[in-house]
Amino acid sequence: MPEQNIVRRIKKAVARVKPRIKKNDMVMVVTGRERGKTGKVMRVMADDARVIVERLNVVKRHSKPRGPQSPGGIVEKEAPIPISNVMFFCERCNAPVRVGIKTAADGARIRICRRCGEQLGNE
Ligand SMILES: [Zn+2]
Repeated sequence: MPEQNIVRRIKKAVARVKPRIKKNDMVMVVTGRERGKTGKVMRVMADDARVIVERLNVVKRHSKPRGPQSPGGIVEKEAPIPISNVMFFCERCNAPVRVGIKTAADGARIRICRRCGEQLGNE
């Protein structure tokens, strides 16, 4: 179906934008089931535009026993959250904020809080 191809192309184009959220950032979920909760980013899946946030969006997985090392049972695991559903959580503002990019005097691109101007580390 041509429509699907178009959707796929758009998704790829969107994914090419470098996420402003990085591993170990604190984020707040702003939409969905976990709205209002904060957590630390464990993994950024840039190609899928998703993030995995520690202890958020936990799903139960039923795994079969596979020998003495993995007895099976119900395993709780974080499921990816669309990156558009989370915002950077600025601890100085104590609020979810948008992240800006600023070029420093030495040419390095650094991330800043758009609300208070706090520097958030390199891009
Ligand atoms: Zn701030």
